[in-house]
Amino acid sequence: MATNWNSKIWLFSLWAALLAALLLLSAAPVAAQDEPEPEGVRYVVQPGDTLSSISVRFDVPLNDLIEANSLINPNNLNVGDVLVIPGIDWIQGTLVLQPLAVGEDYFSLRRRYLLSDADMARLNRFTSTSPEQIYVGYQVMVATEHGELADSARAALPPGGSLLELAVASGDSPWSLAAANQLPGTWAALPGDVLFTPARQGGGPGGLPGEIRSLEMSAPGFIQGATLQLTVDAPDDISLGGDFAGHSLNFFPLDDGGWVSLQGIPLEAVGGRFTLEINGALADGTPFAFAQPVRVLNAGYERANLTVSPELLDEQLTASELAFVRGIMSQVTPERMWSRGWGWPHDLVNNITSGFGLFRTYNAGLASSYHTGVDFGGGALLAIYAPAPGRVAFAGPLDIRGNATIIDHGWGVFTGYWHQAEMYVSVGDVVEPGQVIGIVGGTGRVNGPHLHWELWVGGVPVQPLDWLARLYP
Ligand SMILES: [Zn+2]
Repeated sequence: MATNWNSKIWLFSLWAALLAALLLLSAAPVAAQDEPEPEGVRYVVQPGDTLSSISVRFDVPLNDLIEANSLINPNNLNVGDVLVIPGIDWIQGTLVLQPLAVGEDYFSLRRRYLLSDADMARLNRFTSTSPEQIYVGYQVMVATEHGELADSARAALPPGGSLLELAVASGDSPWSLAAANQLPGTWAALPGDVLFTPARQGGGPGGLPGEIRSLEMSAPGFIQGATLQLTVDAPDDISLGGDFAGHSLNFFPLDDGGWVSLQGIPLEAVGGRFTLEINGALADGTPFAFAQPVRVLNAGYERANLTVSPELLDEQLTASELAFVRGIMSQVTPERMWSRGWGWPHDLVNNITSGFGLFRTYNAGLASSYHTGVDFGGGALLAIYAPAPGRVAFAGPLDIRGNATIIDHGWGVFTGYWHQAEMYVSVGDVVEPGQVIGIVGGTGRVNGPHLHWELWVGGVPVQPLDWLARLYP
């Protein structure tokens, strides 16, 4: 009896030992997680990324990506998650998508992250090195394996210039320049390349001289019909200029120091690629220049098809009157007359019958045009107010625009008021915000009485409602 009991205890002990061994075995994979993380490139998940888009971007099979990161739920990907990208052995570190800022270009970004042309091309699947297609806002993939050189001054090698000339200008020796920029020799710099110049402290953006401390673009950026605002932190004794889409950029000094340029982005520039050029000279006369590609984005304005009687499509008349208006609205008065937010030009602010940017096609595509202003409805005999201080630049009858008034607000900003029944101001008058400048009517080529209101910046009509929603400098 006792023997039988003892053998039972022995059998139980054996069973318990087996169970313990089994538990140990199953615990083994848990213990493996404490080992060092696998080597490889890491990628920080960006807004809009999915696991499939990442697998396509890096040409890594989806299952490898899931396995390498032990993902339990592949659909649950969070912005900022760090993923291991398996199978990439030609580069190390963390990969970051860096939107190209205004003032940066391919060369300056490549130099900032100390990457070779070949690595940049492979990371971004560029078909050529120094690609032209990267524009402001373009998400450039960079690797942080070599760190980031943000504090050293940078200078662009001018076309036809040599490393030797750049070295003389920056106070570096040509050999230290070559070494700092990982060039095999002093002959190996290419025109347009942005080089770090260790002898000079503090870097300007991109290849601009260090005296230009920053170059900033305010939202919404390069969108059709928007007002582009470029702010430059630089001394007041430099000269600054530039060009965008065939329009000269005018820079004006700000009260608190620095410079600003306001420029309208043409509606018809949508989808196009242009070059933003910034140039000028330092106080000692040293010239500088910088250019970078820009793509103009779609603002998503509405479209409409209209059928009108053919005599209303008199393009000759339309073109000559537009040229006359453009001639006035493209001038630049160096004094800014506004200092506060702008007011509405019409009492019925919620009665917009036709918005800015509407693309109209006439008679099945025989002609087309953008609506370059805002139409306020509500009928005739309503008051028209000056929205901001200004000086009357034109007041008189026009064939299409009817009784028209144009106000110059300074800094290249103008407003226009078409189809008036009566005009209360004349050329040269200074107007105050809220002053009644005329009465709504139906003069000119219209279907009914309404106020058509335009706002031009740098010779280009822009969305006027932007100027009521925010304060421009
Ligand atoms: Zn209109």
